[in-house]
Amino acid sequence: MDVLIPAERIHARVGELAAEIARAYDGKPVTVVGILTGCLIFTADLIRRIDLPLRVAFVTASSYRGETTVAGKLEIRDELLPDIAGRHILLLDDILDTGKTLTRVVAHLIDRGAASVKVGVLLRKIGRQEVPFEPDYVGFTIPDKFVIGYGLDFNDEYRHLPFIGVLPSGD
Ligand code: 5GP
Ligand code: MG
Repeated sequence: MDVLIPAERIHARVGELAAEIARAYDGKPVTVVGILTGCLIFTADLIRRIDLPLRVAFVTASSYRGETTVAGKLEIRDELLPDIAGRHILLLDDILDTGKTLTRVVAHLIDRGAASVKVGVLLRKIGRQEVPFEPDYVGFTIPDKFVIGYGLDFNDEYRHLPFIGVLPSGD
């Protein structure tokens, strides 16, 4: 397997993002909302380095893509989400690809009464975005390759790898 981003580089970058986020919120309480399951490791690592009053919660968003990557239906489930009315939300996902998931989840959180929603992603893929969307915090910009590890899966495997890797094609 090819390592695209080694664990040490992720660790260093997550620390920079945490510092940037703490500076931006300037002591204001933040509710971190992760989009399961891909957000798992990024969220766990990032929140432990954010020096702010902080709550954490999760939603799931699943798209049914089928064989091709034709945009499927996106189902958002938020029954584990506490009341977020009036709260400042930092929404986290593993990767920004077409932008559809984050666009929809941001709208959903605003609908639920969030005072503000900022977005952080570990990865942003180049040349894939289909809807205009600008995340507030980006860990790494990567080429258009299917990546795994550090939360990202292939058929629900590989999420536990401590680095971001690319599966050899044809595997
Ligand atoms: P979007 O709605 O931006 O197209 O989709 C984002 C979601 O697609 C991510 O949360 C992730 O689940 C999935 N995804 C997009 N690109 C990749 C990739 O390269 N590897 C993996 N494992 N998942 C990806
Ligand atoms: Mg995902």
